[in-house]
Amino acid sequence: MKKKLTEKERKLRRKERRRRALKRCAKGNRKPVGYWRDHRKTSKEYKGLPWPKEAEWDEDEKAAVLEYLWNAEFTGHYKGYSNCRICGARNGYAERGDSKYNFPDGLAHYVEEHNVKLPRSFIEHALKWKKKHDRKNRAKASG
Ligand SMILES: [Zn+2]
Repeated sequence: MKKKLTEKERKLRRKERRRRALKRCAKGNRKPVGYWRDHRKTSKEYKGLPWPKEAEWDEDEKAAVLEYLWNAEFTGHYKGYSNCRICGARNGYAERGDSKYNFPDGLAHYVEEHNVKLPRSFIEHALKWKKKHDRKNRAKASG
């Protein structure tokens, strides 16, 4: 007879599955953010990835994170379009990132249109970028 898993064991398994799934999305040392599983496909490629969830956003933080997402450099592209998991809209085929993170181009859509929750560490990183970016722009403006 197969041993039934305890809730704790199941949780650990889920965590491990997610860790492995995200590792597949990672680019070098860049942490992947905003890669979701596909509800229709349970193929190996998507298994274990998170599902986008809505969150309460501070409007200033949201604006800063969006600016960061829109300004990040392109790092690659997929073979086809990615569709938004929530509204089904065509949502880009490129990937963007910097030295620390890697994310799909369409991540901005999830934040802008659906207020999708992102890891706190990622938000902090975007806020730091925004501060630096604003300082640079001010310096440019004042000559
Ligand atoms: Zn959408």
